[in-house]
Parts: sequence; structure tokens; C-alpha cells
Amino acid sequence: MWWSYQDVEEQKARVQREIAKRKKRGEKFEALPAPAGQKKLSTTFWGQAWCRNLESYQDYETRLPRGRSYLRQGNVYNLEITPGELSAVVAGSELYDTSITIHPLPKKQWQHIVESSAGQVGSMLDLLAGKLGDGLMQVLTDPKDGLFPKPKEIRFNCSCPDHAVMCKHVSAVLYGVGVLLDTKPELLFTLRGVDQAELLSNASSSVITDLSADSGDLAGADISAIFGIDLGTSIPILTEEPPPVATEPAKKKAPAKKAAKKTPKKRSQ
Ligand SMILES: [Zn+2]
Repeated sequence: MWWSYQDVEEQKARVQREIAKRKKRGEKFEALPAPAGQKKLSTTFWGQAWCRNLESYQDYETRLPRGRSYLRQGNVYNLEITPGELSAVVAGSELYDTSITIHPLPKKQWQHIVESSAGQVGSMLDLLAGKLGDGLMQVLTDPKDGLFPKPKEIRFNCSCPDHAVMCKHVSAVLYGVGVLLDTKPELLFTLRGVDQAELLSNASSSVITDLSADSGDLAGADISAIFGIDLGTSIPILTEEPPPVATEPAKKKAPAKKAAKKTPKKRSQ
């Protein structure tokens, strides 16, 4: 079946009317902004690594390009990332509901990543900005043991009639994650069901944990004011204490220094 330019324009207008109607009813419709003219969809370490991972799988090869152009045209709305799940509405011939389930990162795999990161991540800012050593980057992006999902861990569902394989709406949403990770890299960890604070070296994680315990929510706090420093590229105070010698979690019996007494396991967020 051939579509004329007019058909396509008419279809677009119809979908836009539908969006306007739903908005009027109070439904949320936020388009994911995607760079139109630039070559790369993503500009940061995490966003680019996500897209590279997708593109490395042959299973997806044929469908990804159409999804990419769908995204660039601003057809992905309401993209949400929650633990183990992505969801969005994608505008095509109609509005389609798309959801993608992604297995949580296996515990063993996460443990391996945490151990490999020991002493290598200076601060949460460095981690989220992707300011990491080459060795650690390789660990995080490793196709087999890294953070990113493999095709067998990904299941998708779309309300469009194209059931057989990954449709362009699903692939647009998958690319959309790369765009979203540029501004919210922490969502990758949310999606895989892991806590990124566990990647921080012991010293820095205990400082941050203590801080969040005292002040409630770190996110809303003025970190510069708390530390009394200028936040440039890292938090210098974190490196003032001697870096932890052990490469594995400290044993309980280890002669505890006073700073090591409080080592809460998890940072609540
Ligand atoms: Zn679809």
C-alpha cells in the first residue's frame, strides 16, 4: 500500500487532534524532546552507552532506524522509567500504548560490578557524569556482565497491529531511554533495580549516608553549603580521609577505625 504525502499529513493532523482532545480531558501529554538535526541522539556517557548497547544486537538491527526517526520527529510521549519497566505513548497512524519490561539486574552480576568499582568512584557526581576510569567503564558497559540489558532480558508490548517483531514504536521508546539518560542518568540504575550509591567507595558512601541521615533528603539540600566548598568536578572532602584499603566489603571483625564504625549498608533515597 502506498501512502501519499497528503495521507501522511492528514494522519498526523488526526493524531494531533486526538492528543489535543485527551489533553482537554486532563490527560498528561509530554513529548520527549529529541535533537532533530544533530547526528547523535545522546550526548552523555550514559545515554550513548545505552544506545550503543541497543545497536550491538542483531535482533534489533532492522527495526531500530525507524524508531530513531520516530523519536526525532517528537512522536514519543510520557516516557516513564520505573524499576523493571518502561512505558510511553507513541504517535503513529494512531496513538499507541507501549510498554517494555526489563529484567532486574541479576544479584550476582551487580555484586561483580560493585566489587569491580571498589575505590574507583570518587563521588556520586562523577558517577552520574560518567567521569570514570577506562577500566571501570569497560566493566559497566560489558555486553555480558555490565549494567545494560540484553535482548533476552527485554520483553515488549505495543497496542499497534504489528505483533510479529519489535515494532517501530517500541524501538522509538528504547531510543528515548538514551535521550532521557542524558539528563537523568540515575534512571538506568532505577530501571535495573539497583542502588548506585553502592558503587561509591566506602569513605564517600559513608559520608553521604551520614549526611542524608542527618538532613533527610540530600537532593533538596545545598551540598556546597553543607560542605563549605565550591562544587567543581568532585567533592574534595571525600578524599581527605585515607581511601579504603580493602577491595572487598570490610569484615565485621576488622579493627575498626572510628570513621568505619558507622557503615550503614544502604542509602535510602
Ligand atoms: Zn507498535
